[in-house]
Amino acid sequence: MNIVVCLKQVPGTTQVKINPQTNTLIRQDIKNIVNPFDTYALEEGVRLKERYGGKVTAISMGPPQAEGMLREAIAAGADQTILLSDRAFAGADTLATAYTLAQAIKKIEGYDLVICGRQTIDGDTGQVGPELAEELGLPFIAYVNKIEETTTGQMRIQRMIEEGHELIETPLPAVISVVKEINVPRLPSLRGIIKAKDAIIPVWTAHNLGVDPSMVGLDGSATRVVKIFFPERVRHGEKLQGDLEDQVASLIEKLRKSRVI
Ligand SMILES: Cc1cc2nc3c(=O)[nH]c(=O)nc-3n(C[C@H](O)[C@H](O)[C@H](O)COP(=O)(O)OP(=O)(O)OC[C@H]3O[C@@H](n4cnc5c(N)ncnc54)[C@H](O)[C@@H]3O)c2cc1C
Repeated sequence: MNIVVCLKQVPGTTQVKINPQTNTLIRQDIKNIVNPFDTYALEEGVRLKERYGGKVTAISMGPPQAEGMLREAIAAGADQTILLSDRAFAGADTLATAYTLAQAIKKIEGYDLVICGRQTIDGDTGQVGPELAEELGLPFIAYVNKIEETTTGQMRIQRMIEEGHELIETPLPAVISVVKEINVPRLPSLRGIIKAKDAIIPVWTAHNLGVDPSMVGLDGSATRVVKIFFPERVRHGEKLQGDLEDQVASLIEKLRKSRVI
């Protein structure tokens, strides 16, 4: 099986700061990690390769420092990596991100399956997986918690829904997004770490992809972050007077007036 796994580098802290002028994240001096959900995607890709043979390609769109994360992916079992990095890709929303990833994946010959995490812990939209499937013209299955069986051109998958599970058969190639219940990611092996150290991480730019610049980065984004802010907390406390019975009666009246009861 020829498997592509999408990995995003995210800030490894909740103490992020926002640039008030641009409404973008201040990423300097932040320790980055691989998006936790994507570690399950990678592990599943590696397990499928071990079961059916083939190879795993880890792909990421991000700044040059995402190279370190891709080395970690090799240490954890990926065979090859691609980093999509170019100033032209900066400021991408989910639509432009999915478009750019799709253009790169189309260049990977004979892929059978694309695996994403269910969502990131920074952007948090969960939109890239389904948008990617749309760009590639492939079926998409979200919240996958088990891959039951894969035969030539076909895969049987279990996905989580609110009140249980769904068993789905899909033709391949397909795009799936996985939840953390799917597996327990392995620790990198010593052999993997040595392999990762010497690995060449190819970097593909907008020119390499041959993409229309108006379709990527900020220019290719359908949305703009206008403002990021913490919701204002408005609390009106009031101490009820009188003895306990009076307080209860007064509380009931207030709740009735505000139509809570
Ligand atoms: C409020 C807000 C503020 C933002 N601010 C900034 C900012 O300041 N600077 C900035 O650069 N971006 C910013 N973005 C983020 C940008 O829109 C997202 O990085 C990008 O579009 C991916 O969306 P997501 O993080 O919601 O991914 P999701 O849709 O939640 O990701 C689902 C899965 O898709 C895959 N995936 C997602 N992104 C990538 C990727 N880049 N490479 C490989 N695989 C990927 C992963 O497998 C992931 O688990 C912001 C987004 C929002 C909503």
